Amino acid sequence: MIPEAFDYAAPTTVEEALTLLAQAGDDGKILAGGQSLIPVLKLRLAAPEQIIDLGKIAGLSGVSEDGDSLVIGAMTSHHVVANDPLVALHAGLIQKASQTVADPQVRHRGTFGGALVHADPAGDLLAPALALDAAFVIAGPGGTRTVPADDFFRGLFTTAVGEDEILTEVRIPKTTGWGSDYQKFTRVAQQWSIVGVAAAIRVEGGTIAEARIGLTNMGSVPLRATAVEQALVGCALEAAAVEAATAAAGDGTDPPSDTNGDADFRRHLAGVLTARAVLAAGVA
Ligand SMILES: Cc1cc2nc3c(=O)[nH]c(=O)nc-3n(C[C@H](O)[C@H](O)[C@H](O)COP(=O)(O)OP(=O)(O)OC[C@H]3O[C@@H](n4cnc5c(N)ncnc54)[C@H](O)[C@@H]3O)c2cc1C
Repeated sequence: MIPEAFDYAAPTTVEEALTLLAQAGDDGKILAGGQSLIPVLKLRLAAPEQIIDLGKIAGLSGVSEDGDSLVIGAMTSHHVVANDPLVALHAGLIQKASQTVADPQVRHRGTFGGALVHADPAGDLLAPALALDAAFVIAGPGGTRTVPADDFFRGLFTTAVGEDEILTEVRIPKTTGWGSDYQKFTRVAQQWSIVGVAAAIRVEGGTIAEARIGLTNMGSVPLRATAVEQALVGCALEAAAVEAATAAAGDGTDPPSDTNGDADFRRHLAGVLTARAVLAAGVA
């Protein structure tokens, strides 16, 4: 289908983009990689009058280090995140999850920030960002603010980014030397996650010293399996022990029921996939 007509602007600074956004009010929309927004426009699920493309703003894209944090620009493509050596070294979980997003075409166009702001509960980058305690830097009319991951995802397709704001970068505390894995359960290749589990662990002498577990598509927002994280601390990196500590990963969650599986099946999957992710993280 063809979208409703709209005006298009491609500002070269964040300030200019914020001004355009303020002028457009409810009728403005940010365009990043367009991999979610363009289908929404073509299906006429939204009809903004002003599109503000961030693609020409230098400085919103790229990966860098800042002390104990890895900094990923909002406009950095999934392809770059999946292949960047700094991401691999300091945030292996983000690298592995990015590699599972869609196909090469989508990974070259779609952006890290766009996926996080879009906040599809089946999106693969939300749970890893939550598990790693990412911080989201948001620019708005009143200046810049930083929102922690546990306050960023507010509901279905809803984040802390306001209508008049732009996500500029994501700061991820380094987990250098940790093992990580992202288990994405799908029926066919290149499908959205039916359930996904993000795991990062720090191992000392064959025993788990710290664990982070994030769950994809187990509710309207990504979830942190904190009880499982605690149960894993002190656990030997062996199948029986890990399976016992992770079996309840789906407890207390409210996942969707659809043609891919009902909520009970998803809760069962969460336990199975968490064990697999932790054991795989132990060798990765
Ligand atoms: C065929 C296909 C398969 C896919 N499969 C997967 C998959 O398996 N796993 C997965 O995780 N994702 C998948 N995706 C989605 C992909 O990850 C998209 O890249 C992502 O959802 C949106 O990123 P984008 O840069 O394209 O954002 P856009 O589509 O441009 O924007 C999405 C939304 O975020 C807003 N926005 C974007 N950037 C900013 C910003 N910096 N500040 C404020 N607002 C912003 C836009 O206004 C819009 O509302 C798939 C997409 C397609 C088309």
